[in-house]
Amino acid sequence: MNKIAMTTPLVEMDGDEMTRILWQQIKDELILPYVELKSEYYDLGLPNREATGDQVTIDSANAAKKYGVAVKCATITPNAQRVEEYKLSQMWKSPNGTIRAILDGTVFRAPIMVKGISPVVKNWKEPITIARHAYGDVYKAAEIRVPGPGSARLIYTSDGDEVIEEHIYDFECAGVLQGQYNKDSSITSFARSCFQYALDTRQDLWFSTKDTISKKYDHTFKDVFADLYEAEYKAKFEEAGITYFYTLIDDAVARVIRSKGGFIWACKNYDGDVMSDMVSTAFGSLAMMTSVLVSPDGFYEYEAAHGTVTQHYYRHLKGEAVSTNPMATLFAWTGALAKRGELDGSAELMDFAHKLEASAIETIESGTMTGDLAALWEGEQAPEKVSGLEFLQAVRARLEARL
Ligand code: NAP
Ligand code: MG
Repeated sequence: MNKIAMTTPLVEMDGDEMTRILWQQIKDELILPYVELKSEYYDLGLPNREATGDQVTIDSANAAKKYGVAVKCATITPNAQRVEEYKLSQMWKSPNGTIRAILDGTVFRAPIMVKGISPVVKNWKEPITIARHAYGDVYKAAEIRVPGPGSARLIYTSDGDEVIEEHIYDFECAGVLQGQYNKDSSITSFARSCFQYALDTRQDLWFSTKDTISKKYDHTFKDVFADLYEAEYKAKFEEAGITYFYTLIDDAVARVIRSKGGFIWACKNYDGDVMSDMVSTAFGSLAMMTSVLVSPDGFYEYEAAHGTVTQHYYRHLKGEAVSTNPMATLFAWTGALAKRGELDGSAELMDFAHKLEASAIETIESGTMTGDLAALWEGEQAPEKVSGLEFLQAVRARLEARL
């Protein structure tokens, strides 16, 4: 069989620990035998971030801007213990944070669904994708622990002589106080990424805030979405046969639970933080959750939602057999290859990515899976529990049959 050619390189961001091992196995078993892989490789493993003073992370994000599509392995975000373990010269920042700051994107998380492992919410038949605005609000708030009686005001001043002042509360006792902000530019980027991703994936877009209570703050989010939709996306949505729908967050929560799934739910920063954990848990396993960063300029970075699976890695180093699920990392690869194929007009590459995904899902549905899924399995036959590598080899056998 001739290998599938690629025209534009994929930006490949390697990572750490157990996922770094899976990364190589995925390439060896399922990509390199079939695709003439063109990639620009960046080693974001912690030792190389240390060696390059984290320049490699910045370079990889700029490459993603240049080429448009990246695939990323999970990486360690250093803490004090990691500084010790890896003898780091400093506590490098989260690579995902650095990349997101450069690409200015929104993260979309969606579960991979398989027959035999059902969501806790029994009417969910299609994935629910959460889009979280990852800038500002309570995550960048200023806070005061109010010691006792006194007056609190919110004050804005500018270089000109404009002063805006709002009375908050006259404290008669101790209490708490918080000041949050967000920026029209960031909210607009968020909205644009959401509309763009809805069009890309042909799914309805829901957005929810608490605008009835927060008449300026949350209402601005609502207005920015509505204005951008009217000005740039309404016609495109109608043509694609999808809808944009705004509702109050309380109403959204109720509708999501009663829904069949199959849509994108855009959330403000805090709502997205909390709701994505709820939705992903209800769908089953962290190891089956995919994640893609979509920038408002149309750059894409695909990854798994989980981390480097450190506990499995330590056991693997001790020579123990581990069963780590490579699905989300594999789907990062297929997502990136399919997007690359779409942008380059390569039906062959897109077709390969889809066949690879179908083969992986079929492998699980036929009863061969890693330990995390075996524990959730509801099929009639007992599942065959395999290692990550054995799973990839089983996928390969099915892929061969399809190709
Ligand atoms: P984690 O790597 O996601 O693993 C947490 C636990 O979830 C594992 O111990 C395992 O449970 C289960 N799990 C996650 N992925 C799995 C998979 N593919 N197959 C089977 N089980 C899986 O989170 P963590 O242990 O909190 O973090 C480890 C490192 O990853 C940290 O250094 C953190 O900084 C980094 N991290 C990176 C990213 C990223 O790059 N996007 C995201 C999150 C965390 P059992 O042990 O019970 O089997
Ligand atoms: Mg959270």
